[in-house]
Amino acid sequence: MSVYFSQKFSTLVPYVPGEQPRDRKYIKLNTNESPYPPSAKVVEAVSGEAKNLMLYSDPECLELRRSMAKLYGVFENQIVMTNGSDEVLNFAFMAFADEERPLAFPDITYGFYPVFAKLNRIPYTEIPLSEDFSVNVDDYIGINKTIVIANPNAPTGKYLPLSDIERIVSSNPESVVIIDEAYIDFGAESAVALIGKYKNLLVTGTFSKSRSMAGARLGFGFADESLIADLNTIRFSTNPYNVNKLTSAAGVAALSDQSYYDENCKKICDTRKKTADALIKAGFEVIDSKTNFLFARSADIGGEELYAELKKRGILIRHFNKDRIKEYNRITIGTPEQMEVFMNAVYEIRKEKGL
Ligand SMILES: *Cc1c(COP(=O)(O)O)cnc(C)c1O
Repeated sequence: MSVYFSQKFSTLVPYVPGEQPRDRKYIKLNTNESPYPPSAKVVEAVSGEAKNLMLYSDPECLELRRSMAKLYGVFENQIVMTNGSDEVLNFAFMAFADEERPLAFPDITYGFYPVFAKLNRIPYTEIPLSEDFSVNVDDYIGINKTIVIANPNAPTGKYLPLSDIERIVSSNPESVVIIDEAYIDFGAESAVALIGKYKNLLVTGTFSKSRSMAGARLGFGFADESLIADLNTIRFSTNPYNVNKLTSAAGVAALSDQSYYDENCKKICDTRKKTADALIKAGFEVIDSKTNFLFARSADIGGEELYAELKKRGILIRHFNKDRIKEYNRITIGTPEQMEVFMNAVYEIRKEKGL
């Protein structure tokens, strides 16, 4: 830390992204990226747009919002587009939480929530998940805090049915409820259907996972137009050109080829089932997942150990050094071929341990 670093950030502990080592070629099952490339239409759109890069991007994101509105059945003024969904989450924390309306989110969830809270100096409560890692809905009823719930949750992969989400939203009319749907396309039901009904609901999503565009940074928020206007006040006060031209073109093209992504999601859900079955047979406890990853622990191999042994073999998975989940690993679902290599490595590690 330099002597010039602002006191107000001196205790900030930044978010740690999943590692992206370059020392060798790894099978990456550690950051929940899609194993499938973006649609050919996306590749074409991006190269076509490159010649226009001397111009600023459209701060209104009109074309993107038009396509989003059509696909999701909401109005254009109920949409904000952002630089990844991390950005809409940060904007939402800035806009809708403070000392009077502190944040509340589960104790085991996306690691960026506490970081954004501290960055913006917003007090927060971490509400413990139950023993089996499910969100106890009653803990969130009428608490009048700015609530953030990843649904499905990460890194557990568990989800709440829409009826539970609605109970939480309807019982907290004095504060905004943010539902982070980064993984919604892998089998859970979206709360976007509730947007017209509640003025305090913000649903966020991303092109990073199901739409194979993690490197393009494109996210979005759906909410009542009054909340979207507030988010735009923050956005235009920080970076009105937050979605660049290449990403914008990529997004529009991706939305024009939804069937390609639906197919990929189906494949990933299939591979998820097969991998879960294989892991269970190999002595793992695997949490039922509605995401593109599995959260699992072995009775015989520690979480940290499995992570390290796999890394030696060129396979990256995610391990969190956090009390309640130390013995678990989060394993992104790759292609069937990648998961076969992964399982063979697991069998080899078990054999080496005499299991
Ligand atoms: C991946 C992820 C995000 C954000 O992804 P972006 O790449 O910033 O769109 C948000 N929430 C959760 C729970 C995630 O796992």
